Amino acid sequence: MSASRVVIAGGGMVGVSLALALERQAPSLDVTLVESFPLEPPEAGFEDSYTPSFDARSTALSYGSSLLYSGWGLWDGIAAQVRLIDTIHVSEQGCFGSTLMRAADYQWPALGYVVENAWLGNSLLRALLDGSVRTVSPARVERAESRDDGASLVLEGGDRLEADLLVVADGANSSLRTSLGIGHREHRYAQQAIIANIGHRLDHEGRAFERFTPRGPLAMLPLPREPGASRARSALVWTLPQADAEALLDSSDGDFLARLQKEFGYRLGRLEQLGKRHSYPLALVEAEEQVRSGVVVMGNAAHALHPVAGQGFNLALRDVARLASCLAQAVERGTSPGDLEVLLGYRDAQATDQAQTTAFSDRLPDLFMQEDLAVSALRDLGLFALDLAPGLKREFVRRTAGVAASTEYRDVRP
Ligand SMILES: Cc1cc2nc3c(=O)[nH]c(=O)nc-3n(C[C@H](O)[C@H](O)[C@H](O)COP(=O)(O)OP(=O)(O)OC[C@H]3O[C@@H](n4cnc5c(N)ncnc54)[C@H](O)[C@@H]3O)c2cc1C
Repeated sequence: MSASRVVIAGGGMVGVSLALALERQAPSLDVTLVESFPLEPPEAGFEDSYTPSFDARSTALSYGSSLLYSGWGLWDGIAAQVRLIDTIHVSEQGCFGSTLMRAADYQWPALGYVVENAWLGNSLLRALLDGSVRTVSPARVERAESRDDGASLVLEGGDRLEADLLVVADGANSSLRTSLGIGHREHRYAQQAIIANIGHRLDHEGRAFERFTPRGPLAMLPLPREPGASRARSALVWTLPQADAEALLDSSDGDFLARLQKEFGYRLGRLEQLGKRHSYPLALVEAEEQVRSGVVVMGNAAHALHPVAGQGFNLALRDVARLASCLAQAVERGTSPGDLEVLLGYRDAQATDQAQTTAFSDRLPDLFMQEDLAVSALRDLGLFALDLAPGLKREFVRRTAGVAASTEYRDVRP
């Protein structure tokens, strides 16, 4: 009997992670990955080698995500260039309350890890190209057609690929979702995220900062020090209304740093160096259907979230782990990976995690942007309460850092 065929359309962070997870957990599947950009390991700082996923951003990986990658034998490669998050400092501009969360308080080795997307891409793509997954790139998928027993993909140029299971992982603006007639809900936040690497006078000592300002949240994530560099670096993710963001993108480096210093304060000393700025429009996007016979929608194509709490990829990786487990079990039973019951089992198992994580990421920035005095007092109290009530704080950490200890996570570990 020939092996069941899985075709993954989209070789971003999610598509590549799924290909590697399947290679390890269900090695008898015949897996092909199609990506419109050349699948070459990118290098940090070399914009020519970036793809839409493995670009100039950095990602806060939860401790849970590090354990998933460990289970697939991939963590050592990624960990060669990550910075451990030891402490998360949450504060609100103009308010007295602030809270500190330390890994040691939860007996975890880290609250999470910050990795540059280019490095994540570098280590995942090296593992992919060394392995048995077939890659087709650069190749753009033009359209998809689903059938009762699988799906077909038509590539630009006319080549066709047949699959028992098609994984749609082509990002938030998924053209394959549209081509399959799968609708989506979209809520635009009227905000943009500016990202840039910032060099600062004081060492971050593994501290991540989440600062809520009336115009939007601002995060500074600790980065590993570059070889031979004298300054420590953090990755800025600054969410702002469109007009503010555009003005800041056009400002001089000096003006940008001065404004950032004013909003962020001196917790990292003087902010001295600004890397290249990039901006991302923000929207909550949710597919109206995640599975049908022979098709599963994953990653940003299924749910793209506000980046405020660093949840999007961590959630998608838990989806990846769950799908890989469901497919491995199906293969053992001799069931097709595109079987609707198998895919519904995956969808139902992830539904609560997806709903809770999406709601948390959606509501958090709003809560801190309300002008209402009563809400502001509650918020202040809320930040104090986090310091007073360990249970509440643990829940906040579990959600913001997406750290282990969640039942969802324990179930999906390979
Ligand atoms: C500013 C910012 C900061 C973030 N920070 C964090 C964080 O700290 N922690 C966290 O967990 N998440 C974070 N996220 C979310 C995270 O970036 C996403 O969850 C992740 O990028 C989703 O990856 P993906 O592979 O689903 O989609 P994408 O990254 O969009 O990748 C899709 C891939 O599909 C390819 N493709 C598209 N169309 C086709 C086609 N027709 N044919 C072939 N290939 C195609 C593209 O070239 C691309 O490689 C952040 C997001 C933003 C915007």
